[in-house]
Amino acid sequence: MRKVDAIMEYYNRDARYCIRCGSQMESRPDREGKLRATCTGCGWIFYRNPIPAAACVIFDEQGRLLLIKRRCEPKPGEWALPSGYIEIDQTPEETAVAEMREETGLVGEVDRFLGYFVGHSPLYQSILSFGYLMRVTGGKLEAGDDAAEARYVAPSEAPPVAFASHRRYIALAHGLAR
Ligand SMILES: [Zn+2]
Repeated sequence: MRKVDAIMEYYNRDARYCIRCGSQMESRPDREGKLRATCTGCGWIFYRNPIPAAACVIFDEQGRLLLIKRRCEPKPGEWALPSGYIEIDQTPEETAVAEMREETGLVGEVDRFLGYFVGHSPLYQSILSFGYLMRVTGGKLEAGDDAAEARYVAPSEAPPVAFASHRRYIALAHGLAR
């Protein structure tokens, strides 16, 4: 079984044991009648929600787009925007700034919010992603963290971008979508 399949199987299965008390979970209707994994011991409910993420559109002075080659699942080896999942103590903007720095070595700040996208994820079923146009304020371009490569590409030489959400943010940044 591929690693991604194993992870998908894990996430598409409801929780079997409570993360609070360790008792078995069972599928029970909530007040609205929707079936949810519920702890048979303490009553804790496993709510499943889209996983929040943030992505960065970064251009250089020649209008070339910064892309990274992904090292990790999903879609390792493919090109994408610098992006990552929002940590519990971060705003989406803070995630964008942090991912930009970790994956590209560049220091920056949010120029403007481009839009959001809800998409299917092979790992987490549903991702709610926020796209930002970023302004570079410092740093030195160098791939890091889960980026194998980071480089600016001209529109004519751009490789396919792995995620529909990222393709949409690039179009929005170019004024080609709304
Ligand atoms: Zn419990």
